[in-house]
Amino acid sequence: MNTLGLHAMVATADGDADAIRHAAKVASRSGYGLLELPILDPWALDTDAARDAAQTEGLELACSLGLSTETDISSQDPECVDAGVELLTRAVEVTALLGGRWLCGVLASALGKYPGPPTLAGWRNSIAAMRQVAAHAAEREVRLGLEVVNRYESNLVTTVADAHEYLAAVGSDRLWIHVDTYHALIEETSMRDAVERAGDRLGYVHVGQNDRGALDSGTVDLDGFLGVLVETGYAGPITFEGFSRATADPELADTLAIWRSTWTDGETLAAEANAYLRGRLARHAVGT
Ligand code: MN
Repeated sequence: MNTLGLHAMVATADGDADAIRHAAKVASRSGYGLLELPILDPWALDTDAARDAAQTEGLELACSLGLSTETDISSQDPECVDAGVELLTRAVEVTALLGGRWLCGVLASALGKYPGPPTLAGWRNSIAAMRQVAAHAAEREVRLGLEVVNRYESNLVTTVADAHEYLAAVGSDRLWIHVDTYHALIEETSMRDAVERAGDRLGYVHVGQNDRGALDSGTVDLDGFLGVLVETGYAGPITFEGFSRATADPELADTLAIWRSTWTDGETLAAEANAYLRGRLARHAVGT
């Protein structure tokens, strides 16, 4: 059985020690084995508190982030690229301090809508910067999950095919493809294609519905997606991600265009998502 993860923002909008302890409790009570902590500012995280909370609840930790315009490694401004390398290096360090195996998210560019397609210079900057980060990740035994996001959240890696091209250019075994069903719905030809095209470089998975709410209703064919994961022998983490205006950090909610409150009770949502994932994965496992 895959490790099932919970994105901390399902449980809390905050990142202080009390919020992390609460998120860890919610994750553990809801049946998850992993808590994914957003570390948009990796210097701000109380790593001791996070590690203690995870240990108390018997959870593995993973970290995720999206770069900003000021830390965009695909920028043509060398100052932004340097700031991005510094941030990603610190994020690798934090992930290692937490005993985490995964740093994932929008690592190759800023998280947000770009005014145009990527430039060749920007692509090359991102590749060169990621090589440095990957070398550091190798020293710390951290894996980097390159999240494939939709066109409104990046212009650089928006399909699994883009991700393969990026991985090949960087040339590091530290980099893996991170597929998110919410984004795949918009950019890939099908959930099956997303998984099959990622192939043996699929390292990390986010499951989320089109409205960022409950997994058992919506237009994403999650049952089909989970079936292909089982069929192809995917053994990595499967992390539930959900956002609602009522519960998310306002700044991140703005970046992700979370305008509506589709749910308010994160613990119930987390528990129901966990039951859904367990049920469907078990049924697919029997069917193979
Ligand atoms: Mn995601």
